[in-house]
Amino acid sequence: MNCIFCKIAKKEIPSEKIYENDKVFCFLDINPVSKGHTLVISKKHYENIFDIPENELKELISVVKKISKKRKKELNADGINLFNANGKIAEQSVSHFHIHIIPRYKNDGINISKMFKQK
Ligand code: 5GP
Ligand code: ZN
Repeated sequence: MNCIFCKIAKKEIPSEKIYENDKVFCFLDINPVSKGHTLVISKKHYENIFDIPENELKELISVVKKISKKRKKELNADGINLFNANGKIAEQSVSHFHIHIIPRYKNDGINISKMFKQK
């Protein structure tokens, strides 16, 4: 399978690693929305929320919590947004399940609430 995130998890291609354990790998997004934008992936390949087993998802989300807390402190961020896309129509661009940790800073100019406003 030609999956970029599988290759990153196996260190076949380089990434800026933030954390790893036996099941989960965290690394910096190559095209960050904000300083410290991090991706959390399972080391095993699952395409999206529909096929990741619940036990693996639980392991992954506990890493999301731990890294969110750690990175907020390290980066002196004021908050965190979590984001996850499932399926092409939902704008998932890499077909390997991942959760974005997006640190937020005062006056960072990001406007998430705009996304939820009706057209
Ligand atoms: P998605 O659009 O699927 O929710 O997010 C995929 C994310 O993966 C994007 O934010 C993109 O910048 C990031 N990304 C894509 N390819 C690479 C890569 O080779 N290395 C790293 N570090 N991030 C990548
Ligand atoms: Zn993969």
